[in-house]
Amino acid sequence: MPSVITIDGPAASGKSSIARLVAKQLGYTFVGTGNMYRAFTWAVLNRGIDPGDAAAVVAVLPSIVFECPVSDGQTHVRLDGHDLTADQLNSDAVNAAVSLVARVPEVRTRLVADQRALIRLGSLVMEGRDIGSVVFPDSPFKIYIDASEEVRASRRRAQGQADNLAERDRIDKARKSSPLVVPDGATLIDNSAITLDEAVQLVLQALNERGLKS
Ligand code: C5P
Repeated sequence: MPSVITIDGPAASGKSSIARLVAKQLGYTFVGTGNMYRAFTWAVLNRGIDPGDAAAVVAVLPSIVFECPVSDGQTHVRLDGHDLTADQLNSDAVNAAVSLVARVPEVRTRLVADQRALIRLGSLVMEGRDIGSVVFPDSPFKIYIDASEEVRASRRRAQGQADNLAERDRIDKARKSSPLVVPDGATLIDNSAITLDEAVQLVLQALNERGLKS
């Protein structure tokens, strides 16, 4: 039976860097679900749709062709037959609109189905906002990564991105459809004052204590 390690947390908490290294260490496929919501947001903006107009977002969904090919041990996002670059996925326009698109229930239903289907690839480390609470709630391997607001904001500034983290977190936590929560039974790790390697070790230790056979 493949295992799924779920890693959730707020924006810029360090969860994708940690999740990527944990996946590498275990030889599991890494899945970053934030990029999936970013890809849909790119598609919405590219079609000239107002991301705050939920009905217009729903109407455009059938025209979006979305795939998650795997290479180098991780999934990538392909939209309408094209690979999206990191610059496109992390553009200021996408940062500003992604939480609006991600709160539309029909968008979530479609992406959650795609995320669950990735189990066909074998064992996964999947990171996002609702992975332990909604996508794989029965996983025994749930981690929640947090960091202080100051640390998260300074990490984003260091990446040179304009990204209103507080506003994204506010929308992600307040939405009706699968809001950001600490999943039941998750191990909480705050990495504000520790290194990336230390955080990875803490995650591996927590998984070990939960009986993960690596
Ligand atoms: O992780 P990242 O910051 O790239 O996620 C971008 C946005 O995608 C989040 O702010 C959230 O609105 C949405 N998201 C989500 N559920 C997930 C992953 C991301 O709603 N599982």
